[in-house]
Amino acid sequence: MIPCSRCSRPSVIHQRYSGLNLCAEHFEEDIERKIRETLRAYRIFSRGGRVAVALSGGKDSSVLLYTLKRIFSHRKDIELVALMVDEGISGYREGTLQTASALADRLEVPHITLSFREEFGITTDEIAREDLSQAPCTYCGVMRKHLLNKTARELNAVALATGHNLDDEAQTILLNYLRGDVERLFRLVPKSPREGMVYRIKPLRRIPEREVATYAMLHGIFPRAHKSCPNVPRAMRLEVKNMLNEFEAGHPGTKYSVLRGFDRIRELAPDAHVELQRCKRCGEPAGSSMCKTCQLLEGFRAKPLSHKSKNSCPDIRLGSSAGQSE
Ligand code: SF4
Ligand code: ZN
Repeated sequence: MIPCSRCSRPSVIHQRYSGLNLCAEHFEEDIERKIRETLRAYRIFSRGGRVAVALSGGKDSSVLLYTLKRIFSHRKDIELVALMVDEGISGYREGTLQTASALADRLEVPHITLSFREEFGITTDEIAREDLSQAPCTYCGVMRKHLLNKTARELNAVALATGHNLDDEAQTILLNYLRGDVERLFRLVPKSPREGMVYRIKPLRRIPEREVATYAMLHGIFPRAHKSCPNVPRAMRLEVKNMLNEFEAGHPGTKYSVLRGFDRIRELAPDAHVELQRCKRCGEPAGSSMCKTCQLLEGFRAKPLSHKSKNSCPDIRLGSSAGQSE
């Protein structure tokens, strides 16, 4: 038995980056402290309000909802509402939606299920079957963000929280560097609110994926392992993930360094302020005259039949993990 570095109880986790062994209680304290600090840095909770939490039923968003509920338990002026999205991915989404609503019920958090079918008249399965020219995630991620933002705004939410963890953030930062996509990099954390866009927050961005999983296990939050979404290869993200994991193994703390480095650059950089317009099709905020969702769906509908194929198995692009494409 390896004792906790802060007390004599048996440790449940070793953090190589900090050199600490932590028992269940001190581990929980450490996780919740990091989340509180991240929330404080957003500086938006002093006046209370409604916080929309994107809940997929996976471990990250489940831990997010659970910890936010605990952290805000003494704040009667803050109300959580869980938003779940049914993208229409059969064999995958049904199970995660069930897990998600069971958790929200257990935590007594009101929840709403939003559906691609109802909002856009099409599902990710249908898109995946018909458009073989690009990965379904290209559509699915954009449409999900659109729907979450729209609903959170209609609910007058002060923030929309997503479950991205340290690994997701470090991967996204590196990916954007590798692609030279500086604009997208700075859009990750806009400095000022943009018209029509609900402020996006990522309370778990300082928690390593492994620790999110351990926390979930210790709290019985994620009892059932779900299948991954069948759609994505996400080859480049997977390569970056493996590369970061190798670096982390050889140089503990690398993921934190990537995040810290990015946060520093962001502080120094001027705000990449993009004046948003209203989409001429749906009225949602857009970078040009039409929002990304309407552009994609219009392009999809206009695609010649040669680019579409009926009856193709979506697993043709069999991927690894469910995407954090949001
Ligand atoms: Fe949608 Fe995520 Fe599945 Fe891609 S991996 S199709 S973004 S649910
Ligand atoms: Zn639109």
